[in-house]
Amino acid sequence: MKLILLGPPGAGKGTQAKRLMDKFAIAQISTGDMLRAEVASGSAVGREAKAIMEAGKLVPDAIIIAMLAKRIAASDCAKGFILDGFPRTVAQAEALDAMLKERGLPLDHVIELAVDDAALIERIAGRFACAKCGAGYHETFQPPKVAGVCDACGGTEFTRRADDNRETVKTRLDAYHRQTAPILPHYARQGRLRQVDGMADIDEVTRQIEAILLGGGA
Ligand code: AMP
Repeated sequence: MKLILLGPPGAGKGTQAKRLMDKFAIAQISTGDMLRAEVASGSAVGREAKAIMEAGKLVPDAIIIAMLAKRIAASDCAKGFILDGFPRTVAQAEALDAMLKERGLPLDHVIELAVDDAALIERIAGRFACAKCGAGYHETFQPPKVAGVCDACGGTEFTRRADDNRETVKTRLDAYHRQTAPILPHYARQGRLRQVDGMADIDEVTRQIEAILLGGGA
């Protein structure tokens, strides 16, 4: 199964992608996670991407497309993959079409998580993660059961993404509307685009996505 999850930052793409990865045993590919790993390692790509990411802008297409092409050639993608955070521009969508065509791997589904901007700012500004196992939390909507202790691993150190603050979120939303939303008609023309209600609770969004993947309606 080859699937794209589209939607603005904070729409829940990462949360849903992790659930689908476990359920369908396919790879989750998050270009944001890959870039954060490059930044942490201090690589040439990471050094170029760091300031752009912290400003909430998009990393140049050439870097992202090269990174993605290498990633989907890896053996764990043979059974399928979920793209989370890619493509983000029309040029990336076109490059992906060409890559998949060359490999004879058509996309199965493109699913948009629809959410409104005001809710996104609240979601993003409150999120943090366990520094040890990466489990995600939210100050208001999903705090750990015991304050300061990770539900999943018992860790007591937490981190926040450098770009998860109110000012940067506005730039990221602006980038989404100007540069990413134009790819929705690209997939609509291919007859692949489906929409789910990203404002619903997490389990309901998963249910709607699975209904599409398993061949029913949303
Ligand atoms: P994300 O974790 O998907 O929210 O991505 C975090 C940041 O990484 C974005 O705000 C961009 O700066 C950068 N980024 C991730 N994916 C892409 C992409 N496909 N194209 C350009 N920049 C990206």
